[in-house]
Amino acid sequence: MLPNRHPERVVIKIGTSSLISAGRPDPTKLTALTDAVVRLRAEDRQPVLIASGAIALGRAALDAGAARSAAAQQLAAAVGQGLLFEAFRQGLAERGLKAAQILLTPLDLTAPGHRASALAVLEGSLDAGLVPVVNENDAVMVRNNDVLAALLAAALRAGRLVLLTDVPGLYESDPRKNSGARRIPEVRVMTPDVERLAGIAAEGIGTGGMPAKLCAAWIATMAGVTTVIAGADTEDCVVRAVRGADLGTVVHPRVPDKQLDLGRLWRALSSPPSGRLVCHPTVWRSVADGGPLLAGQVSSAIGRFSAGDVVDVVVDDTRVVARGRVRISSAALAEAGADAMVSHHTEYIAFQEA
Ligand code: GLU
Repeated sequence: MLPNRHPERVVIKIGTSSLISAGRPDPTKLTALTDAVVRLRAEDRQPVLIASGAIALGRAALDAGAARSAAAQQLAAAVGQGLLFEAFRQGLAERGLKAAQILLTPLDLTAPGHRASALAVLEGSLDAGLVPVVNENDAVMVRNNDVLAALLAAALRAGRLVLLTDVPGLYESDPRKNSGARRIPEVRVMTPDVERLAGIAAEGIGTGGMPAKLCAAWIATMAGVTTVIAGADTEDCVVRAVRGADLGTVVHPRVPDKQLDLGRLWRALSSPPSGRLVCHPTVWRSVADGGPLLAGQVSSAIGRFSAGDVVDVVVDDTRVVARGRVRISSAALAEAGADAMVSHHTEYIAFQEA
C-alpha cells in the first residue's frame, strides 16, 4: 500500500440513471444508497458520495426537453443541483446524518493552487462527521463525473472507488448479445489490452458510458486506488463492493513507486484516445524516461485528432507504451518539422518503466 493512504475513505459514484426516474429522485434507489452510507459508517468507513442527476432534474423542472447544448445543460444543472442535493440532505437527515454539498470541477482537484482548498473542505467535512455529497459543478462546466470521481478518490488517497453503472462490470464480450458473455471479475494490471477487450465488448452498450469508466479506472489505477465497476441494480451493491465481495470488476492499483501528479493523470487519461502515434521502437525508453515526444519520433499517425486530444503512443505496430494529450493536430503533425513538440512529459503517462 502506498504511504499516506486512507483505506477507510471510499468514493461512491452514482450515475443519473441509477438515481433518477421520471425526472425525480427515485425513492427506492435513494433509500438503498443512504442505507448503505449508514452501514458503511457503522464499519468506521468514510463514504464520499458523488452523484449525477442535476441536469436531469433541472430539465424536468424547466420542462426543457432534451436540448443537449452546453448552455442548456449548464442551465438545467443550475436549477437541478439544489434539487439533487435536497434529496440527499433529506434522505441522510432521516438517518441522523448531515450532508455537505461540495461542487467541484477537475481544475479544483488538479491545479496546485486549487487542490489544497478543495481538499480542506472535503477532509474538513469528513472530520466533522458529515457525508460529502459531491457533484461536478455543471452550472459552470459539464464534463464527466466518472473521471471527477477518480480524481476525487486519488486526491483523498482513498482506499476504494466504486463506480455504479447500468452494466454490471467489464465483460469479455457484449453481455446483451451473448448470454454466455464472461464477466471479468478482476483486473490485476490494467493494460491497453484489457481495456480493448472490455471496450469492444461494451461498444453496443449505449448508456453504460464504459469508455468514461475505463478512463476513470486508468486514473485510479495509476494513482494507487482500487476501482470497482459494479451494477447499480445488483442487490446490496454498495456495501458489497466496498467490502470486496465478488461482484462487478475490480481493477487493482498499479502502485507506481512514485506518486504521479494528478494534473498529469488528468491531462493524459481523462478522455479515450482518438488516435495512435506509431513510433520507432526506441521511443518506449525515451517516454519511460520522461523525455518529450517530438514529431521526428513519430513514423505515422493513425486517426484524425485535434490539438488537445488524447492519443496512444505505439511501438512495434501494436504495443501501447504511453497515452497522453497532444499539442498538435494530426493534420499539423503531417507538416511539422522533426523538432516540433507533440507531447510534453507532463501531458502523457508511460505505461512501462524504463
Ligand atoms: N454531473 C452531471 C449531473 O449531475 C452529469 C455528468 C455525468 O453524468 O457524468 O447531471
